[in-house]
Amino acid sequence: MQKGIAILGSTGSIGRQALDVIALHPDRFRVEVLTAQRNAGLLVEQALVLQPNAVVIADERLYPVVQEGLAGTHVKVYTGQKALQDVVTMDGVDMVLTALVGFAGLYPTLAAIRARKPIALANKETLVVAGAIVTQEALAHRVPIYPVDSEHSAIFQCLAGEAGNPIEKLILTASGGPFRGKTRADLAQVTREQALKHPNWAMGAKITIDSSTLMNKGLEVIEARWLFDVAPEQIEVVVHPQSIIHSMVQFADGSVKAQLGLPDMKLPIQYALAYPDRLPTPWPRAGWQQMADLTFQAPDLETFRCLHLAYEALKAGGNAPCVLNAANEVAVDLFLKDQISYLGIADLVEEALAQTPFAPNPTLEELGAADAEVRQRFGR
Ligand code: NDP
Repeated sequence: MQKGIAILGSTGSIGRQALDVIALHPDRFRVEVLTAQRNAGLLVEQALVLQPNAVVIADERLYPVVQEGLAGTHVKVYTGQKALQDVVTMDGVDMVLTALVGFAGLYPTLAAIRARKPIALANKETLVVAGAIVTQEALAHRVPIYPVDSEHSAIFQCLAGEAGNPIEKLILTASGGPFRGKTRADLAQVTREQALKHPNWAMGAKITIDSSTLMNKGLEVIEARWLFDVAPEQIEVVVHPQSIIHSMVQFADGSVKAQLGLPDMKLPIQYALAYPDRLPTPWPRAGWQQMADLTFQAPDLETFRCLHLAYEALKAGGNAPCVLNAANEVAVDLFLKDQISYLGIADLVEEALAQTPFAPNPTLEELGAADAEVRQRFGR
């Protein structure tokens, strides 16, 4: 049966790769909804080829451009952040791939869960900000959340057939990013261009910076806590520069399972869309040649303070991960605009965590308020 997919963030790195996966299996998937923030040109181009039921251009100023571009087609055109929450509930949508960046993913993901649409989750920030609320809603509505992040997909794949077997530890692998092995002094002069060059993965700008600071790994630790219902102490990060082992699970009997492959997001995207099936693919395989020199080392939490801060926020709980996320979004944006230094990213996050009032059991509204407060206070 063909699954109707809504892709939130179809013009981004994950969104475009999802369209490649869907094109490989037209018998299995059809595109129902496409959305973008500002890239009206690519959104129109995608919609003209794929003829979805609806598109959303989140930036309202660009609505006329998209409407004109799709005039004469049957594609419905909507605009605004609220429209993202509406389109995911449409009848033809069988699954929602959340591939937009940052806090913006939270409300559409919740709307999809409440409409009982299975989620393929790339937007890790949703679980970082409101993991308790989102997982409770998913449970209450019996909606599965399939991970797209390669590490979480690896863990999810390792857990297949292990229902009821206790997890002792999750081992998240990290490439270490472009600055692996550097000292704090080395990082003082890092430029935007240097930070945007990831050794193994081609990704959107925000996650590429997050990967270089190891904040991405910190966000993934928090995401793993909620996806797999484990305690922070059960999640270990290991630096594995070759990015062949995507993560591992250690079970109660001491056995460790790992998932391996070349670093290519299309595999975890496809696994989430097609679960539980493994569909044939034409892309290159990891051979033993790539496995000959696999190495592992502990992360340097003093140099890469963002990972340490993420663990601290997770242990603190409440609104701390939401504050961490908002401060990081602000800091990465300022760094990309050359308004703060590279080391200033961790400084800003630490300051925001120290200065924002702690709330132990925040509601959704309180999380929204904490997010807004951090952006207002630290953004420029
Ligand atoms: P990109 O920046 O490449 O793409 C983001 C997409 O979301 C674009 O379509 C963008 O539209 C849209 N978007 C951005 N902001 C908003 C907003 N406020 N409202 C609505 N739409 C918005 O990001 P990635 O594809 O790299 O990442 C997407 C998510 O997946 C992130 O949460 C990231 O952490 C996660 N992820 C990404 C991986 C990767 O390999 N890229 C790997 C694992 C996880 P426009 O193009 O118009 O700006």
